[in-house]
Amino acid sequence: MLPTIALIGRPNVGKSTLFNRLIRQQKALTHDLPGVTRDRIYGVVRQSDVPFALVDTGGLVMDEDQNFEQEIMQQAQEAIAESQVIMLVVDGKNGLNPVDEQVARDLRESHKPVLLVVNKIDGYEKEGNASEFHALGMDMLNVSAAHGHNIPALLDRLNELL
Ligand code: GDP
Ligand code: MG
Repeated sequence: MLPTIALIGRPNVGKSTLFNRLIRQQKALTHDLPGVTRDRIYGVVRQSDVPFALVDTGGLVMDEDQNFEQEIMQQAQEAIAESQVIMLVVDGKNGLNPVDEQVARDLRESHKPVLLVVNKIDGYEKEGNASEFHALGMDMLNVSAAHGHNIPALLDRLNELL
C-alpha cells in the first residue's frame, strides 16, 4: 500500500488546484465558490521519488445552518486518521485566518508530520501575507498551485516527511 498524504484547509485556499497539479490530471473539481468538492477524491502522485496516495478533502456542505468550521475540523480529523502526512493548505494572499489556527492546533495534537503549504504566492514579488503564517510555528513552504511555483520543492519536502 502506498503511504497517504492528505490536503486539508479552508474552502477556496486552492486544495483541489494543488491536487490537480500534483497528480497532473484535472480530476478534482475546482471552482471559485467555496465547498465545491463534495467528497474526498483520491489520486496517486508518481512524479515523486516516493510515490504516494493523495487525498483531496473539502466535502463541505455549505448549508446556511451548517457550521463550516466544524465541518473542516471533522475533515481534518478524518484526514489525520487515514494519512501519514498532512498538508495544511492556507491562502497566502488573504493571510492568517482563525480557522487556520484551530486546524493547526488539532494537527499539532495529532503528532503527525504536517507541512504548512502557503498557496497563492504567484510570484517572488508577491509574498502577500505569507509571513503571518510563521505564527503557526509549523514547517512551511510558499507555493503557487495555479502557476506551479515551488512544486518540485514541495515534493522534496513531502518525501522527507514520508
Ligand atoms: P479548494 O476549495 O481549497 O479546493 O480551492 P480550489 O482549488 O477550488 O481553488 C479556489 C480558487 O483559488 C480558484 O479560483 C482557483 O483558481 C484559485 N487558486 C488556486 N490556487 C491558486 C494560486 O496558486 N494562485 C491564485 N492566484 N489563485 C489560486
Ligand atoms: Mg476543492
